[in-house]
Amino acid sequence: MTSPLIAQNREPRLWIKNPLGVFTANGLDGSGGIVVSGGRITEVLGSGQQPAAPCDEVFDASEHVLTPGLVNTHHHFYQTLTRAWGPVASVELFPWLTSLYPVWARLTPRDLELATTAALAELLLSGCTTAADHHYLFPQGLDEAVDIQVQVVRRLGMRAMLSRGSMSLGEQDGGLPPQTTVQAAEVILADSERLIGRYHERGEGAVIQIALAPCSPFSVTRELMAASAELAVHHDVRLHTHLAETLDEEDFCKEMFGLRPLDYLESVGWLTGRTWLGHGIHFDDEEIARLGVAGTGVAHCPTSNMRLASGTARVIELEAAGVPVGLGVDGSASNDASNMILEARQALYLQRLRYGAAAVTCEQALGWATRGSAGVLGRSDIGQLAPGLQADLALFRLDELRFSGSHDPVAALLLCGADRADRVMVGGHWRVLDGQIPGLDLPGLIAEHSRSARNLVAG
Ligand SMILES: [Zn+2]
Repeated sequence: MTSPLIAQNREPRLWIKNPLGVFTANGLDGSGGIVVSGGRITEVLGSGQQPAAPCDEVFDASEHVLTPGLVNTHHHFYQTLTRAWGPVASVELFPWLTSLYPVWARLTPRDLELATTAALAELLLSGCTTAADHHYLFPQGLDEAVDIQVQVVRRLGMRAMLSRGSMSLGEQDGGLPPQTTVQAAEVILADSERLIGRYHERGEGAVIQIALAPCSPFSVTRELMAASAELAVHHDVRLHTHLAETLDEEDFCKEMFGLRPLDYLESVGWLTGRTWLGHGIHFDDEEIARLGVAGTGVAHCPTSNMRLASGTARVIELEAAGVPVGLGVDGSASNDASNMILEARQALYLQRLRYGAAAVTCEQALGWATRGSAGVLGRSDIGQLAPGLQADLALFRLDELRFSGSHDPVAALLLCGADRADRVMVGGHWRVLDGQIPGLDLPGLIAEHSRSARNLVAG
């Protein structure tokens, strides 16, 4: 028997109807909800509006706040194995790194699979649908680190920008990381090309994208930075690195290269719209203007920046200069959570400390976590609720004690500290239902991930 839907030769239509609150990230009125069909948003409905055609299914969202799927622009998934590690709980970036490098050097393929699953599951449960990762550790036996991550992303049904990170400047040559954690430039570049060829998707609705990501000025040679930029242009992929995170890094650049970090970045061909930078804190006025002209993006990581006492990014001034700005939770050894909706709250508060309460609204912070982050990753098909865009969205309930007595439902997400989505959709598929990821054994994951973390630190 042929179903009427197939007979009509069209995709089923779902109306997510009359949400309690909605943030579209573009000023559209979505108070009547949205219609999803064929993996995309086909209609955004204003107050009292009905879908243009009958819907096959209606989800009553009258107890939910609807947002675009959150987009995370900077992370190191493997670091979920070294969260809240005592020896580095109260230190700044350089000693934090030098204490952790030898631990991270022991990472195995199974460790990475568990860490990636834990990080992505936590992100997904916080309303995140697209995540960037920066993986730069390839100890012996972990040559296929990014391949492992691709499999986990697919298993969870999310989208990801996986960057092939690298370290090539070891202690012997004046760098920060131990020699055992660095790779030869030829190996790095060959693997980068392999990964682009094998996994990088282009165009609307891409699930997996690959970027090239030498780790930082103090762990990569100048030659590898320049060669990575050339390779990225050749294959038309994005470039990512840490920059202007700490004053220690600035001192290192002046001493090693005779340049401030941004001048160094420009000297190796990276000051372009293809690049997004993790942190981007210590820029002067003239440098902010140059970033804006180039269209180089910044992943603002407020929790990590507070945790390591690195400084406060000049987000409002960056945006005013035309710099794309998004949010990143950063690696879980410096956050130590992977929670995007809480990160938006941190951004709201940290930026208010810098600019005042009136200058930073809840909508702005949610905008950085969605549309802003999508722009940082070079994507215009996600990050907003608008007709034609991918059906990536999150629904939050406000029935926990922490929300009781709240009035503006969108403001309540950040001001009352929402930390968990009730439902999350990626490309038209529900990936979180009733606050759970169907098919994922969370207690089993926690048990094995915790065991792996203990073994990694024990050595
Ligand atoms: Zn980072």
